[in-house]
Amino acid sequence: MISSKYTIREQNESIILNEIITHKEISRATLSKMSSLNKASVSSIVKKLIKDHLVVETRIGEATNRGRKPILLTFNGKESGLAIAIDVGFEYIDGLLTTLDGTEIRRFQLIDTYANKYNIQKLIHQVVEKLTLKLPPTFHGIVGMTIALQGQILNNKIISTTYSNLEEVDLETLLNAEYSYPVYIENEANLSALGEYTFSSDLNNLVSISLHSGIGVGIVKDGKLDVGNKGYAGRLGHTILIPNGRVCSCGNKGCLEMYCSTNIIYREIAEAKHLNKINSDIVLHLYNSNDSKVINMIHEYSYYLSIAVNNTIMLYAPDIVVFNSPLTKKIPDIITTIQSHLKNKYTNGIPVISSSIKWNPVLSGAISLSIQKFLNIEKLKLSSS
Ligand SMILES: [Zn+2]
Repeated sequence: MISSKYTIREQNESIILNEIITHKEISRATLSKMSSLNKASVSSIVKKLIKDHLVVETRIGEATNRGRKPILLTFNGKESGLAIAIDVGFEYIDGLLTTLDGTEIRRFQLIDTYANKYNIQKLIHQVVEKLTLKLPPTFHGIVGMTIALQGQILNNKIISTTYSNLEEVDLETLLNAEYSYPVYIENEANLSALGEYTFSSDLNNLVSISLHSGIGVGIVKDGKLDVGNKGYAGRLGHTILIPNGRVCSCGNKGCLEMYCSTNIIYREIAEAKHLNKINSDIVLHLYNSNDSKVINMIHEYSYYLSIAVNNTIMLYAPDIVVFNSPLTKKIPDIITTIQSHLKNKYTNGIPVISSSIKWNPVLSGAISLSIQKFLNIEKLKLSSS
């Protein structure tokens, strides 16, 4: 049963709360100026936010024009509540618990774990149990949990995934029946983009490219996530790189992810070097040992990725392109090589970077979504700590 605390916050209340979060410390008078709401309305909204334990009066500020010294207001993110993020990766499950200002309380990972339609609920339960052991006291407790998955997801429903038949379970219904707080489901590349927007970027238009076993793009336009009307906008891995090329599971030939997903990169390097085991650390070691075969292969993958980056910039005109991948994090030359191939007059001024988010950016986005929904703030900016 969802209690009344999850009911949607009234719009003016969300506007005022967002101003308080953005400004860290702000007076009622400044809030009135910023929001164009009169002082009486601001005062009554602030009174309600204080009563809801979302805002606290912190200290007396400096007076302006010999007026009364104002009382400054701050978002009570540390004490008001908690949010959960779960990233269901291809071979792991990563969980994070934070306060509502994005401060990490606990992190727990299951590795070498493969989710399927039979075990997914149990695996999520296992991670949540570890995360929620001895919760710090907060006024609202856990306010929401967001599950990140690869694949096409629309309005919390899994339309298709790259995992074992996960679309055959109604995960949203199962999880919302199990937990006392709302549970949301969203695509991992979309959440990465939201994480970049919320925690690390001053920019309002960005794309985040997730380079994993699949390749996806999350798009944030004017602060809002754009998933397309069917939830598969940004499935970059299924854009065609080579006409009539390798057969892809999507039904087409020559898709990008048949040439430079991490699965393909690992498999081809393992074959070329006759290795039984491979991961990003082994690729990094070979690259740093000046293995000319591996260096050439990495440069070729980077060239393929630069074509994808070029096409993405031409379609979405973002202010920045952020990569989320263990490979780009460990081998910065991939990013440099991609940049060197961006030659047209539109793309060569657009920064391409590797994500600098401390956590897995997918988790940051999943935390952000849980908090956004609870506060009813769509364009939320927090700084991670
Ligand atoms: Zn495809």
